[in-house]
Amino acid sequence: MLEPKTGENFAAVDLGNLENLDQFKFEAPKIQVDGKIFLKDLLQLTGAELSFNKLPIGKSVPFYHKHQQNEEIYIFIKGKGEFQIDGEIFPVQEGSIVRVDPAGERCWRNCGDTDLYCVVIQTRSGSYQGATIQDGVGVKKQVTWSQN
Ligand code: ZN
Repeated sequence: MLEPKTGENFAAVDLGNLENLDQFKFEAPKIQVDGKIFLKDLLQLTGAELSFNKLPIGKSVPFYHKHQQNEEIYIFIKGKGEFQIDGEIFPVQEGSIVRVDPAGERCWRNCGDTDLYCVVIQTRSGSYQGATIQDGVGVKKQVTWSQN
Protein backbone atom coordinates (compact mmCIF):
# COMPACT_ATOMS: atom_id res chain seq x y z
CA MET A 1 0.00 0.00 0.00
CA LEU A 2 1.32 3.41 -0.94
CA GLU A 3 1.81 5.78 1.95
CA PRO A 4 2.16 9.36 0.80
CA LYS A 5 4.44 11.63 2.77
CA THR A 6 2.54 14.76 3.60
CA GLY A 7 3.32 18.14 5.12
CA GLU A 8 1.47 21.38 5.57
CA ASN A 9 2.02 22.36 1.94
CA PHE A 10 2.77 19.14 0.10
CA ALA A 11 2.12 15.47 -0.54
CA ALA A 12 4.70 13.12 -2.06
CA VAL A 13 4.48 9.51 -3.11
CA ASP A 14 6.99 7.04 -4.55
CA LEU A 15 5.53 4.62 -7.08
CA GLY A 16 8.75 2.61 -7.30
CA ASN A 17 10.34 1.50 -10.56
CA LEU A 18 8.09 2.08 -13.53
CA GLU A 19 8.53 -1.56 -14.65
CA ASN A 20 6.47 -2.49 -11.59
CA LEU A 21 3.51 -0.28 -12.46
CA ASP A 22 1.51 -3.39 -13.33
CA GLN A 23 1.09 -4.02 -9.62
CA PHE A 24 -1.55 -1.28 -9.84
CA LYS A 25 -4.97 -2.00 -11.27
CA PHE A 26 -7.71 0.46 -12.04
CA GLU A 27 -11.21 -0.93 -11.72
CA ALA A 28 -14.51 0.70 -12.56
CA PRO A 29 -17.84 -0.81 -13.63
CA LYS A 30 -17.17 -2.96 -16.74
CA ILE A 31 -13.55 -1.79 -16.85
CA GLN A 32 -10.34 -3.21 -15.48
CA VAL A 33 -7.03 -1.75 -16.54
CA ASP A 34 -3.76 -3.26 -15.34
CA GLY A 35 -0.73 -1.04 -14.97
CA LYS A 36 -2.63 2.15 -14.24
CA ILE A 37 -2.68 4.27 -11.11
CA PHE A 38 -4.54 7.53 -10.54
CA LEU A 39 -2.87 9.96 -8.14
CA LYS A 40 -5.47 12.63 -7.37
CA ASP A 41 -6.53 11.10 -4.08
CA LEU A 42 -3.09 9.92 -2.99
CA LEU A 43 -1.58 13.34 -3.60
CA GLN A 44 -4.72 15.32 -2.74
CA LEU A 45 -4.53 17.11 -6.08
CA THR A 46 -6.98 19.99 -6.37
CA GLY A 47 -6.65 21.13 -9.97
CA ALA A 48 -5.82 18.06 -11.99
CA GLU A 49 -6.02 14.28 -12.15
CA LEU A 50 -2.80 12.48 -12.89
CA SER A 51 -2.16 8.86 -13.80
CA PHE A 52 0.87 6.72 -14.54
CA ASN A 53 0.34 4.00 -17.13
CA LYS A 54 2.20 0.96 -18.41
CA LEU A 55 1.05 -0.88 -21.51
CA PRO A 56 2.77 -4.19 -22.30
CA ILE A 57 4.21 -5.12 -25.69
CA GLY A 58 1.51 -5.81 -28.27
CA LYS A 59 -1.36 -4.47 -26.14
CA SER A 60 -3.95 -1.83 -26.91
CA VAL A 61 -6.24 -0.06 -24.50
CA PRO A 62 -9.32 -2.20 -25.24
CA PHE A 63 -11.85 0.63 -25.59
CA TYR A 64 -12.28 4.16 -26.90
CA HIS A 65 -13.25 6.86 -24.47
CA LYS A 66 -13.93 10.57 -24.44
CA HIS A 67 -14.61 13.11 -21.73
CA GLN A 68 -17.36 15.52 -20.82
CA GLN A 69 -15.38 18.48 -19.49
CA ASN A 70 -11.74 17.52 -19.14
CA GLU A 71 -8.93 17.68 -21.63
CA GLU A 72 -6.12 15.16 -21.32
CA ILE A 73 -2.39 15.51 -21.87
CA TYR A 74 -0.58 12.24 -22.62
CA ILE A 75 3.16 12.39 -21.97
CA PHE A 76 4.97 9.33 -23.34
CA ILE A 77 8.07 8.64 -21.32
CA LYS A 78 9.30 5.30 -22.68
CA GLY A 79 8.54 2.92 -25.54
CA LYS A 80 6.83 3.23 -28.93
CA GLY A 81 3.21 3.10 -29.87
CA GLU A 82 0.37 4.62 -31.84
CA PHE A 83 -2.26 7.08 -30.75
CA GLN A 84 -5.70 7.31 -32.30
CA ILE A 85 -8.08 10.27 -32.03
CA ASP A 86 -11.35 10.33 -33.99
CA GLY A 87 -9.94 7.73 -36.36
CA GLU A 88 -6.68 9.59 -37.00
CA ILE A 89 -3.68 7.44 -36.12
CA PHE A 90 -0.14 8.67 -35.52
CA PRO A 91 3.02 7.33 -33.91
CA VAL A 92 4.05 8.19 -30.36
CA GLN A 93 7.23 7.40 -28.49
CA GLU A 94 9.41 8.59 -25.66
CA GLY A 95 9.12 12.37 -25.68
CA SER A 96 5.75 12.54 -27.46
CA ILE A 97 3.10 14.71 -25.84
CA VAL A 98 -0.51 14.65 -26.98
CA ARG A 99 -3.35 16.97 -25.93
CA VAL A 100 -6.84 15.62 -26.49
CA ASP A 101 -9.96 17.81 -26.31
CA PRO A 102 -12.81 16.40 -24.22
CA ALA A 103 -14.79 15.25 -27.26
CA GLY A 104 -11.89 13.41 -28.90
CA GLU A 105 -12.50 9.66 -29.09
CA ARG A 106 -9.14 8.30 -28.09
CA CYS A 107 -7.15 5.11 -27.77
CA TRP A 108 -3.49 4.13 -27.74
CA ARG A 109 -1.53 0.98 -28.23
CA ASN A 110 1.94 -0.40 -27.84
CA CYS A 111 3.47 -1.48 -31.15
CA GLY A 112 7.10 -1.33 -30.06
CA ASP A 113 9.36 -4.00 -28.62
CA THR A 114 9.40 -2.70 -25.04
CA ASP A 115 6.69 -1.78 -22.58
CA LEU A 116 5.10 1.61 -23.29
CA TYR A 117 4.82 4.13 -20.49
CA CYS A 118 2.88 7.34 -20.32
CA VAL A 119 1.74 9.90 -17.81
CA VAL A 120 -1.72 11.37 -18.29
CA ILE A 121 -2.76 14.73 -16.88
CA GLN A 122 -6.45 15.55 -16.87
CA THR A 123 -7.65 19.11 -16.29
CA ARG A 124 -10.87 21.05 -16.83
CA SER A 125 -10.81 22.27 -20.42
CA GLY A 126 -10.51 26.06 -20.61
CA SER A 127 -9.74 26.49 -16.92
CA TYR A 128 -6.15 27.68 -17.15
CA GLN A 129 -5.76 31.32 -16.11
CA GLY A 130 -2.35 31.97 -17.63
CA ALA A 131 0.59 33.65 -15.89
CA THR A 132 2.89 30.61 -16.10
CA ILE A 133 6.03 32.46 -15.01
CA GLN A 134 4.36 35.46 -13.38
CA ASP A 135 2.57 33.15 -10.91
CA GLY A 136 5.88 32.18 -9.31
CA VAL A 137 7.22 34.43 -6.58
CA GLY A 138 10.80 34.32 -5.34
CA VAL A 139 11.33 33.61 -1.66
CA LYS A 140 14.02 35.71 -0.03
CA LYS A 141 15.81 32.91 1.75
CA GLN A 142 19.26 31.31 1.37
CA VAL A 143 19.07 27.75 0.04
CA THR A 144 20.29 25.17 2.55
CA TRP A 145 20.21 21.35 2.64
CA SER A 146 20.70 19.20 5.72
CA GLN A 147 24.19 17.65 5.92
CA ASN A 148 23.20 14.06 6.80
ZN1 ZN B 1 -9.55 9.88 -20.09
